[in-house]
Amino acid sequence: MPKTRPTTATADTPRKKGQLPTKQCAVCRRPFEWRKKWATTWENVRYCSERCRRAARHSSPPTDD
Ligand SMILES: [Zn+2]
Repeated sequence: MPKTRPTTATADTPRKKGQLPTKQCAVCRRPFEWRKKWATTWENVRYCSERCRRAARHSSPPTDD
């Protein structure tokens, strides 16, 4: 016989973290979550990290060589 816990809780309710908005990084294509430091610039945020931002800057200038 399987042990069954006599609990009244049917399912544990997952705690939502306030449903933060997310975006997809333009460089690494990974989704990233809203951060407090982006509170005022979120609309313009395109990269998940400074590293990706630099990477984008590096490869962005469309100069023919
Ligand atoms: Zn990234």
